[in-house]
This record gives sequence, structure tokens and C-alpha cells, in this order.
Amino acid sequence: MSNEKQLLQSVRGTSDLLPNDQPLFQRVNRVFADIAIACGFKEISLPIFEYSWLFQKGVGSTSDIATKEMYYLHHKEGDNLDIALRPEGTAGIVRAYYEHGMHTWSQPVRLFYSGPMFRHERPQKGRERQFTQFGIESIGESDSSEDALVILAACQALYRLQIKPENFSVHINSIGCTHCRPKYIKKLLAYIKTRQDKLCDDCLLRAETNPMRVLDCKNKTCQAHTTDAPNHLDHLCDNCKNHFKSTLEYLEEAGISFNINHRIVRGLDYYTRTVFELIAETGTLKGQALGAGGRYDNLVATYGRRKAPAVGFSAGVERVITILKDLKLSKVPTEKPQVFVIQLGSSAKKKAFSILRQLLAAGIKTASSLSSNSLKTQLKMATKNNVRFALIIGQRELLDKTVIIKDLQNGSQETVDLKQYLAILLERLK
Ligand SMILES: [Zn+2]
Ligand SMILES: [Zn+2]
Repeated sequence: MSNEKQLLQSVRGTSDLLPNDQPLFQRVNRVFADIAIACGFKEISLPIFEYSWLFQKGVGSTSDIATKEMYYLHHKEGDNLDIALRPEGTAGIVRAYYEHGMHTWSQPVRLFYSGPMFRHERPQKGRERQFTQFGIESIGESDSSEDALVILAACQALYRLQIKPENFSVHINSIGCTHCRPKYIKKLLAYIKTRQDKLCDDCLLRAETNPMRVLDCKNKTCQAHTTDAPNHLDHLCDNCKNHFKSTLEYLEEAGISFNINHRIVRGLDYYTRTVFELIAETGTLKGQALGAGGRYDNLVATYGRRKAPAVGFSAGVERVITILKDLKLSKVPTEKPQVFVIQLGSSAKKKAFSILRQLLAAGIKTASSLSSNSLKTQLKMATKNNVRFALIIGQRELLDKTVIIKDLQNGSQETVDLKQYLAILLERLK
């Protein structure tokens, strides 16, 4: 620990978001938010830590997240508050839904969020220990149209970012409900028993805790030995079957092509019926999910409250940024300063502050190099910053109560009264 400190390095699995990367990061968040708002979702911001049990109950005590990946917080004085950094966003949303009486609002309640999540995983490409998730959640509606709306919003956000339908694919599955899933799990377990000697250790462990996860094992040998595993879709009850069928019909109508993939099961206990992943088809993340989601009709009841059906989606913002970079779509136009304030001499430097105040109050984006004294250096800086106008104030202008407006594009300049420069400048900036 002390070594890392001495090297002045960020903690393994975390990274800094530098000024040059901010415009793209903000754009991705902005586009997701715009689409969410356009679909009727409203923003919510939650703390990054909650009581641990909230996550343990939510993701399931046997899930990888609860057993290996959560960051538990301990206070220095030793009082164990039993809180943890959030590994995902959904549990907190459900907590807030009840805490603020949203179950009494008109349903469904559609919410979106964005922020850092924390998981203690082995860091690798597309998987940091602190990462940013953008998510949408719709609580209070069981109809399949809500599932389709969530998937439509997710795809539409990627399209808006210029990620084309051929750059990612929608994989969808239904994992049934509390009525039909137990029967399926029984069949699946019987099947897994016949393959036991072929499967990896992880799969054997999963067979005990969360058997469906055997199907999404990334190990090629496991995949080869489970190709004829019982398919959940053949074991859905009538309600689940109809729900899945109509979800797909809505997606078809929305022009979204999808792959029905029985290996999509999601790692978390709380999913029911629809589960889906948006998988990158290009670049360094090829084969990995850019985002994923599903229906979680039983999560709310897990917390001992009246059942409320829900469906949601979350995207890994850094992953979306990675595919944008791979696709050479990472250039984002940034806002340039409009006026460069140039001062010559100590009295003019003081005056520059009153001018800066006026410019800022008028909503003008400024740049300046107040510590330099030479006209040449400051003009050079202005050109380098791509600024259209420079305001120059020196000894002479101070005495005359004037200022020079210089158009850096055509080189023309004029001396104007200090009382009028702002109106003239605003006119030119139009
Ligand atoms: Zn069912
Ligand atoms: Zn395996």
C-alpha cells in the first residue's frame, strides 16, 4: 500500500478522467439522459454507499458481487456501520422508491441515473474497479410494452451516438417467473449432472448456487458441452410465454433486430422474464456487453414490501466510450473562448479584472493570460486558443477610457469607448 502511495499512482482498477476526455464522457452521459428524458424518465441521484444488506439481498447472497466484489466500508473508530460502496444502481433505486413513497405516485415511475459503481474484480479491458454506469429503471408496470420501451431507449441512445445497428447486437431471453423457473431449474440441474466431469470448477460451484449461470460461462469447453442444455424458452408458463412474445413483437415494430439467446441469463438473482444484453460487434470490446438489463418483478418484494413489477437497463459509460474511440467517433466539438483579454502594464492589468467581470456577467466565454506582460505573447496565446476577438487595454486606453477590439480573423481593429465596447462586442459575437 505504502509503495503505491509513494509512486503517486492511482489505485489499481481506477483511472483519472482527464480534461481532454471530459467532452466525450459528458456527451455520452448527455445523449443517454436526452433519450431517457424523451422516453419519460426523470433523473435521480443517490448516495454511492448504502447499507450492505440492501445490495446483498438485491443481487443475491450467492452472486459474485456479494461474495467477492463488494467494497465494505469500516469507520476508523471501529463502529461497524455495515455499509458498502454500490456495486450497481438498481437496489438503491428500489430503496429510494419506497423511502420517498413513489409507490403512491402514478405508475410506472420512470427514473434514470448516472454515476460511479464499485466492484473488486480483476481489472482488465472494459472492467475497472470504479466504473460509471448510466441506467434507467421503470417501476410499477408489468406490461411487456415497458420492457420494449427500455430496450428501445437503450438502442436509441447508442444510435444517437452514431453507433450503428451493425456495430452491436441485441441478445434477448426470458428466464421465466417464480412459477415456471423452479421446474426448469430442476431439468437444468439434472442435465448438468450428466456433464459434471466436463464443466469447469466455476460451473460446478454455480450448479449449487445459481445453475442458470452455467449457461453463460465464458469457458469454450463448458459452452461446447452445454449446447443441448434444456432451453428456458421451452419451459415458460403461458403468462411468461405471452409476455416474451409480445415484447419481441414490439421490438420488431420498433425496427430493432434481436437475437434470441438462451445463454443470456444475467448474473443477478433478481431478474425475471426479460433479460437482454447489447453486445459489441466491433473493436476491442467485441463480444462484450456495452450494456444490459431486464425485468425484476421480485426485487421489490425481496425487501418485504408489496410486490412492484419493474424493468431496467444500465450501460457501462467507459465501455461505450471505448467503442466510440474504436469507431473513430470520439471527437466532440468543444466550446471555444470568444474573447481574449489582453492587458499591458500593471494599471491595465487591474482594469482587466473589471472588464473580465463585465464579460462574464454578459455570458461571454473568456480567455486571458494575466501573468504575461508582452503583447506578442498574449496575441500568440489568443491565436492558439482559436479566439475570434481580443480586447486590448494599455496605458493609453486607460487614460482615454477606451479599449481596442481586435478581430483576430481579419486583423482589423478599432478603438472604442469603454462604455460602449460591451454592446459592440455582443453585436459582433451574434
Ligand atoms: Zn412463468
Ligand atoms: Zn464453466
